[in-house]
Amino acid sequence: MDKVGNVLISLVEDLSSISTNGHAHIQINENLCDPCQFERLFNYFTRGTILEHIDLEVDSTSTRVVCGCGYNSKMNEDHSGYTKCPSCGKFAEVRNDAYRILSPNPRKVGKRRSIRFE
Ligand SMILES: [Zn+2]
Repeated sequence: MDKVGNVLISLVEDLSSISTNGHAHIQINENLCDPCQFERLFNYFTRGTILEHIDLEVDSTSTRVVCGCGYNSKMNEDHSGYTKCPSCGKFAEVRNDAYRILSPNPRKVGKRRSIRFE
């Protein structure tokens, strides 16, 4: 999985390119960083940028094993790709997104038109 610094940079890039209305809600993988700690890092990192005054809400998410047989469970390791499903023995997908933007939804909101918040 990515390092926290890289995740911060890509999150800042993502949030800089979409309209946020001053608020964003994200999930951070608990294997990567504690949500409160991530929020502090974000606030520190965005000082002096257009994201400085954004109200960021951070929840945690976990790495999960998801299989076609219906198996869906938390995985405690930092792992990417595929693993064997403990339930049926077939290959199951490991979902370990470092972060996910819940709101604003990057697919629904437009690209930022100005560099100021409206
Ligand atoms: Zn399975």
